[in-house]
Amino acid sequence: MAVPKRRTSKTRKNKRRTHIKLSAPGMTECPNCGEMKLSHRVCPECGSYKGEEVTVAN
Ligand SMILES: [Zn+2]
Repeated sequence: MAVPKRRTSKTRKNKRRTHIKLSAPGMTECPNCGEMKLSHRVCPECGSYKGEEVTVAN
């Protein structure tokens, strides 16, 4: 089995990981009111989804 000859230095490891970073979860602009909302979710600001008004019947 192949074994690394040299231990990867902290600098090299950190440089390799510069591309690994957290990205914001799927946020999209609401087409109805323009607020940022999670994709595939009903907009919390105006309660619309896919251009339709979604209201909870009470
Ligand atoms: Zn909205």
